[in-house]
Amino acid sequence: MDYFRPTDLKDAVDWLADNDARIAAGCTDIYPAEAGPSLGGAVLDITAIAGLRGISEEADHWRLGGATTWTDIIRADLPPAFDGLKQAAREVGSVQIQNAGTIGGNICNASPAADGVPCLLTLDAEIEVTSKTGRRRLALDEFLLGPRETALKPGEILSAIVIPKSAASGHSAFVKLGARKYLVISIAMVAVRLTEAGGKIETAAVAVGACSAKAQRNADVERELIGQPWDAELAAEISDELVASSLNPITDTRAEAGYRSHAAAELVRRAVRAVVA
Ligand SMILES: Cc1cc2nc3c(=O)[nH]c(=O)nc-3n(C[C@H](O)[C@H](O)[C@H](O)COP(=O)(O)OP(=O)(O)OC[C@H]3O[C@@H](n4cnc5c(N)ncnc54)[C@H](O)[C@@H]3O)c2cc1C
Repeated sequence: MDYFRPTDLKDAVDWLADNDARIAAGCTDIYPAEAGPSLGGAVLDITAIAGLRGISEEADHWRLGGATTWTDIIRADLPPAFDGLKQAAREVGSVQIQNAGTIGGNICNASPAADGVPCLLTLDAEIEVTSKTGRRRLALDEFLLGPRETALKPGEILSAIVIPKSAASGHSAFVKLGARKYLVISIAMVAVRLTEAGGKIETAAVAVGACSAKAQRNADVERELIGQPWDAELAAEISDELVASSLNPITDTRAEAGYRSHAAAELVRRAVRAVVA
């Protein structure tokens, strides 16, 4: 059988163990990368597996199924810490892409410009993968190895993204720069999540995408923010140099490295302002 569309995760991983197949979700990354009119080789279509789709609140974490679409995320009732992820979801492609494209596909495609990744890094996301032999979990930063490279092994499916409740607190924002407003790959994008206590920033999570081989948390900016007054003015104190310390941008058709670096710093300032406001 070249094409299999199971409704059960167990059937999917059993089949995947015996078949060297490509996993297909929304296909919004797979199809544009194909030269021909159809996908070659065996295909495991995961879109009918109910257990892979949707968002649930558990005792100590939030669970996003690997085949949850961007539209599902936009429509879900989630705490303010997820506002940044919702903003990113609204900026992925167009409504049609958001209806088909999944968060698991965005992660597994492992593009440095994947809009979902910076937000998930600020939420301390863990990746759950399932195979015929069981489940394992690893931090998102360990799952993403580099451009188009992940720690997914043959026979494994990204079954869920797990957000610990400890990270699902505070407020967040996502800001993206592209060559136009919609249907655009990011030149740089930034996610910020802050928590407040006693009028000051208690914890800070800042991540920058499209400015290094994979999106990165920026510990220097986070250290600078913690303990500062909860005041939008403080964003002006975040210098280009501080943001650039953790970046390694490239020059490509979309932007020059220096421009990317400066843009990332401006996006960090805007995202901090947005969260505090
Ligand atoms: C017009 C257009 C505009 C776009 N705009 C944006 C944008 O603004 N921002 C952005 O970040 N992306 C954008 N994209 C890319 C794409 O839409 C997203 O990355 C989307 O989230 C991919 O999800 P998918 O379900 O379609 O993945 P698919 O294309 O089905 O799969 C992508 C890869 O992930 C693997 N995979 C998928 N799901 C799993 C799973 N659960 N377990 C293991 N492997 C899996 C597949 O085998 C494949 O290698 C755009 C694409 C198009 C065509």
